Amino acid sequence: MGHESINWDKLGFDYIKTDLRYLSHWRDGEWDQGNLTEDNVLHISEGSTALHYGQQCFEGLKAYRCKDGSINLFRPDQNALRMQRSCGRLLMPQVPTDVFIEACRKVVAANERFIPPYGSGGALYLRPFVIGVGDNIGVRTAPEFIFSIFCIPVGPYFKGGMKPHNFIISGYDRAAPNGTGAAKVGGNYAASLMPGSNAKKANFADCIYLDPQTHTKIEEVGSANFFAITQNDEFVTPKSPSVLPGITRLSLIELAQSRLGLKVIEGDVLIDQLDRFKEAGACGTAAVITPIGGIEYQDKLHVFYSQEEVGPFTHRLYKELTGIQSGDVEAPEGWIVKV
Ligand SMILES: *Cc1c(COP(=O)(O)O)cnc(C)c1O
Repeated sequence: MGHESINWDKLGFDYIKTDLRYLSHWRDGEWDQGNLTEDNVLHISEGSTALHYGQQCFEGLKAYRCKDGSINLFRPDQNALRMQRSCGRLLMPQVPTDVFIEACRKVVAANERFIPPYGSGGALYLRPFVIGVGDNIGVRTAPEFIFSIFCIPVGPYFKGGMKPHNFIISGYDRAAPNGTGAAKVGGNYAASLMPGSNAKKANFADCIYLDPQTHTKIEEVGSANFFAITQNDEFVTPKSPSVLPGITRLSLIELAQSRLGLKVIEGDVLIDQLDRFKEAGACGTAAVITPIGGIEYQDKLHVFYSQEEVGPFTHRLYKELTGIQSGDVEAPEGWIVKV
């Protein structure tokens, strides 16, 4: 088992053409039965709304190889629900949860040889997406849609272990107060490319976005969610209509409460009150948990726990989460779907 020519230790986060992908079309008011295809090129109308008006959304989730050889999908029902909300916001037809999960399982099973081995720190990353297609030119919802899922093997986010990173506050907004910040749509990402690139040029891992209304509260860390641990051992994460409801964030809220016994506060993280916190981090499917060493704001670097070492709470959350994902730690009810 396993792919002969992939060096699992060298895997990063890069596109690799795997064997098969799921493809389904929506026409005349319904999704077709969908199928797996070898072709990784989409042939769509030049008038597709996805190309002109950003009518598209996507998801990201991972499949993990366990010690016993079985394969875990982590909370795919949550990705299905979120994609339904994104589709609803952009006037696209929703994919039922059971169809979504079954399509994920088919794609993973069909590309089993690309799943990184247990213990390598890698995983099979699944990218579901829905796009508006078909002949069109006016600003309106598309006549047809495509739902597809492809997958790529990805390496561990941190080669050689978790390490704190520094971030810088951006003056740009990624989403408007009542815009599409809570939907996982490409337009938010297009808006984040320049601020993200500027941050990296200045030697930061990425930028942090403040709330678009008052610019006083932390909302997102690049394309990941923010969390912090207060001096009184509380787990804090921002709550706002322009924050993307991450499934890693949701999972950490539940684990902080049930496994670490921390009080959880979903609320404001004022940028001028960072002294409240002894640890901070970014979380997401790709980033897993990225400890935040420091945050640069108005030419001053605020350091949390350390710029070299990972704080104890961050470390425990990381162990718990990744243990559940790879099947080494017992999962809360319903979190794991076997392929
Ligand atoms: C996808 C995403 C996240 C993280 O969500 P997960 O479900 O944890 O992967 C956070 N912020 C933004 C802007 C995102 O697009």
